[in-house]
Amino acid sequence: MAGPRAHHKGGLHAIETASRDELTHLQVTRLRETLAHVYRNVPHYRSAFDAAGVHPDELRTLTDLARFPFTTKGDLRNNYPFGLFAVPREEVVRVHASSGTTGKPTVVGYTAQDIETWSDLMARSIHAAGGRKGDIVHVAYGYGLFTGGLGAHYGAERLGCTVIPMSGGQTEKQLQLIADFKPDVILVTPSYMLTLIDAMARAGLDPAGSSLKVGIFGAEPWTEAMRNEIEARTGMDAIDIFGLSEVMGPGVACECIESKDGPVIWEDHFYPEIIDPVTGAVLPDGEPGELVITSLTKQAFPVIRYRTRDLTRLLPPTARSMRRIGKITGRSDDMLIIRGVNVFPTQIEEIVCATEALAPHYQIFVDKEGHLDHLSIKVEARTELSPETRQAIAHHVTHQIKTLIGVSAEVEVLHPHAIERVLVGKAVRVFDRRPR
Ligand code: ADP
Repeated sequence: MAGPRAHHKGGLHAIETASRDELTHLQVTRLRETLAHVYRNVPHYRSAFDAAGVHPDELRTLTDLARFPFTTKGDLRNNYPFGLFAVPREEVVRVHASSGTTGKPTVVGYTAQDIETWSDLMARSIHAAGGRKGDIVHVAYGYGLFTGGLGAHYGAERLGCTVIPMSGGQTEKQLQLIADFKPDVILVTPSYMLTLIDAMARAGLDPAGSSLKVGIFGAEPWTEAMRNEIEARTGMDAIDIFGLSEVMGPGVACECIESKDGPVIWEDHFYPEIIDPVTGAVLPDGEPGELVITSLTKQAFPVIRYRTRDLTRLLPPTARSMRRIGKITGRSDDMLIIRGVNVFPTQIEEIVCATEALAPHYQIFVDKEGHLDHLSIKVEARTELSPETRQAIAHHVTHQIKTLIGVSAEVEVLHPHAIERVLVGKAVRVFDRRPR
């Protein structure tokens, strides 16, 4: 579905429609500068390049980058907190940190120029998503160490919008501000958007009757089925935005409203590669694998071949002259191995969303029973149903999972609203209770 904003054009930066040659030329120039910058200023990169026997001067073409070593989350942890900064600490005007569900958080820093670049790229992203100067923009990503809130905020201001810095949580208050301030655009996780939609319906408000025209959703994986659900219930255009704190924050890539065919990587600032996660070999465009990103313009915290662990594909340019990424299937560390079968939570989401009687909320539990993995899934009905009907739907979902994914699962269909919602931060859908 395409809402009223789909046909706006114009206002693009020249580089968004540049030729591949112009883009390549810019990428090579910026890549050489970035490699020289980290080699000069970051002991970790200098010793990693030396150990791999490569020097920044040896980069002549983009394919030469494959000879340089990867950077991992472990490298960030080993240099905690400020060891990978490439400028004196005094030049760092802002620090963010990612959630760090295991161990220490990973810390990133920005110079004043980095904040400018980020604001420009977030403004470009919101514009690509259909937001325009003068719009009212409601930011419901969390503010704080998480990059979502402040990243969205600075970008919307840069575009010339009126920003409502609501942050996450306080669902009632969110609804009140949406009703009273009448925002055109909302930036929020897709899972929390569902919570807002449900809360509107429960309060007797029509989710399709709100002022919102565009939703810019990211920070967690979501499926086409979820896009259809949100668009059908709200009449909004639901746009996918991608980013990660290690590389910058939100706005590394964003979908265009006129095509909605996967986030465009802003290739003038980030050079993407897809690798085989096991061998590390660079794969051709179109092949699925792990996304690796090298920053081309960052000053305080450049990253060279950062392994995102996000699984996706590089797709040819469409609405812009830069390449796109396919919808992220998940992170390599989200993949569940159940009795030898690889299962991504997004595969379960597609099946749940395709089942008319079910709401798009689900939880996945994995336990060990004797020596065997046991997969169980809790979903909820959209409306009150008889126990027999719920049982029949559960059988149907079990059958779909077996047929489409190839694993046995015990499915339980609960009453409406029975599944706990995450009100702040990212959705938590997997509970792997197997002993490590
Ligand atoms: P962390 O989750 O490690 O605390 P971030 O808050 O920076 O770090 O989150 C970045 C991660 O969020 C990405 O690496 C990716 O896994 C996920 N993510 C962000 N945007 C999207 C998106 N549009 N689709 C799928 N996953 C996304």
